Amino acid sequence: MSTTTTLLDETHDPALKSWVASANAPDTDFPLQNLPFGRFRRRGSGEPWRIGVAIGEQVLDLKLALQQCPWPRDTEPLLQPLAAGDLLEPMQRGAAARRQLRLALSQALREGSEQSPFLELCLAPQADIELALPCRIGEYTDFYTGIHHATAVGKLFRPDNPLLPNYKWVPIGYHGRVSSIVVSGQAVHRPRGQLMLPDAPAPVFEPARRLDYELELGVLVAAGNADGTPIPMAQADDDWFGLVLLNDWSARDIQAWEYQPLGPFLSKNFGTTISPWVVTAEALAPFRRPFVRPDGDPQPLPHLDSEANRAHGAIDIELEVWLQTQSMREQGLPPQRLSQSNFRDAYWSVAQLITHHSSNGCNLWPGDLLGTGTQSGPQPGQGGSMLELSAGGKQPIALANGETRTFLADGDTVILRAHCAKPGARRIGFGECAGTVLPPR
Ligand code: MN
Repeated sequence: MSTTTTLLDETHDPALKSWVASANAPDTDFPLQNLPFGRFRRRGSGEPWRIGVAIGEQVLDLKLALQQCPWPRDTEPLLQPLAAGDLLEPMQRGAAARRQLRLALSQALREGSEQSPFLELCLAPQADIELALPCRIGEYTDFYTGIHHATAVGKLFRPDNPLLPNYKWVPIGYHGRVSSIVVSGQAVHRPRGQLMLPDAPAPVFEPARRLDYELELGVLVAAGNADGTPIPMAQADDDWFGLVLLNDWSARDIQAWEYQPLGPFLSKNFGTTISPWVVTAEALAPFRRPFVRPDGDPQPLPHLDSEANRAHGAIDIELEVWLQTQSMREQGLPPQRLSQSNFRDAYWSVAQLITHHSSNGCNLWPGDLLGTGTQSGPQPGQGGSMLELSAGGKQPIALANGETRTFLADGDTVILRAHCAKPGARRIGFGECAGTVLPPR
């Protein structure tokens, strides 16, 4: 695969329409060309979780779809684990099987499909379902690929030395914590921790005052690798299953006191929110772009470089942060957009994260989650965190209803959104990654 064209097939045809009418709305996140997977059940039903595919405002229940609809013979084994609620098994089958499943789902949901009379009975409105984490997440690593974020934050913490010299050579990361990863819609409590207040002689143990969000994407690893066997760049792009939105909630005051010398710890591991729908690598294929380094920057070392990565290692994903405060909610005001940026500005590609992570022999598991790090844009106002938008708390952010923020207040709801759009391709979106801040427990 050396050009983007080879990643495309009939499922990406922008002219395709679905017999599910809401999937044909121009602004839907979930047209026929997307087909993201999520783990769901009917709200309040207590049923076992099953895997579904978002299509317009509906979800196709793959458990019912396997039971009640005829499928091509070679598709049934691909659907069986999904019908049983398991997304990890299909993650490990490899890219060819994933493309085959995507083609079968695309054909089944297409206008004129002979399967439509059966599948009409296997739809549930998304308004009537609840969603879980999409799979059992193995391990969680958070990277730092947003160079504009790394530079802006570095300036706040180290004005004389914002970007450390390893940044342009090593995809910087740290091991995070799986136990506190939650799905969109779950609330997050403000953490308590050690705060070293200005001019104080000693730290205090109090609720964080500088609670923040971080706008990130999360990569779900597909098959992974055996211990001791690195994943070369030539394989790395086939070894991730898809992307979700990820909010790496961060307590900046706890972070500032604890982060040296071993990096973030309790400032981060009290909560991480991800979006429920996994947008697959295949769905993102039309939005691949050349991966280029700015003039004068070092090229990646050979083991982090490949022709395919240069040709289409970057992905054009528009990212947005929205905020709805408690009083906005009480006044019936909609959320307000705080910033926009794009994943194409990331300093390292998804393939490079996977190859780097396994380059010492470290084994990745199916369903491991890799955070991309905060995606801030190059322009002022494109910060992917409040730390950046408020210049470290020095410049309050003015909201349309007259409120201001330097960091998050209790009752604030943070909503991450993302979509991909370009001429000649059908727009696809990620849905929402939302979380509300509650007072400390
Ligand atoms: Mn982060």
